[in-house]
Amino acid sequence: MSDFEGIRALVTGGASGIGRATAELLAERGAQVAVLDLDPSSVDKPLLAYRADVTDDASVREAVAAAVADLGGHGVLDVLINNAGIGAQGTVEDNSDDDWHRVYDVNVVGMVRTTRACLPHLRASAHAAIVNTCSIAATAGLPQRALYSATKGAVYSLTLAMAADHVREGIRVNCVNPGTVDTPWVGRLLDTAPDPAAERAALEARQPTGRLVGAGEVACAIAYLASPLSGATTGTSLAVDGGMQGL
Ligand code: NAD
Repeated sequence: MSDFEGIRALVTGGASGIGRATAELLAERGAQVAVLDLDPSSVDKPLLAYRADVTDDASVREAVAAAVADLGGHGVLDVLINNAGIGAQGTVEDNSDDDWHRVYDVNVVGMVRTTRACLPHLRASAHAAIVNTCSIAATAGLPQRALYSATKGAVYSLTLAMAADHVREGIRVNCVNPGTVDTPWVGRLLDTAPDPAAERAALEARQPTGRLVGAGEVACAIAYLASPLSGATTGTSLAVDGGMQGL
């Protein structure tokens, strides 16, 4: 039996990387899946695709309304994957106030906007789950990632607060904390390095497993937290980091 038969799911940032792998996995397992992304042009059937910018409240509300209608559940949404996010490098001396506002607006307030638009529909589900894509940066103290880490620390706290607020409504809220994942994002980062091969080797060496995490491996963790298999789990984070923090 498919784990997600009859489940209606929405994935932000679902056109690439972790979001893409998650949307495809949920669909393979029987869910109807809507992807919200800045650029959903590469998203194919059976996934439904909607253009939305999580920093623009009106565009989020419009896209969520259209997706929920097209998913055909009479207003019910079962699963929200808050995954859209952007990176930032540097110490506190390297990023401007504008950088801080811009990245926080995507990584944190973007999740808030999407969640706010989805909550009325999630309340109508018999087994609602929200999974936020956080990062080991929330707790690991990574160098050159002050701004990014602060936004992911906020995502971690937001996950706990949302779990407390909505547990009695039957909505579970958890997050995944990936290590370095082999996605187009990391590809872009490597392309800016003077020696991309050496940089990739350094990233791999940082992981006790000696390799980057696969986007599909993060998708599996997200799928677990989104499914009734984790029905007694809320307000937690699941590390998918090749042992980076625990070992
Ligand atoms: P990615 O760049 O491959 O995909 C991100 C997607 O989000 C893209 O499709 C992009 O268009 C979309 N997006 C960006 N800004 C948006 C906006 N304002 N509105 C709507 N969509 C927007 O990145 P990824 O590596 O798959 O990262 C996905 C999530 O995973 C992010 O939240 C990131 O912080 C987190 N993460 C990534 C890694 C990693 O190593 N790749 C590690 C830990 C956490």
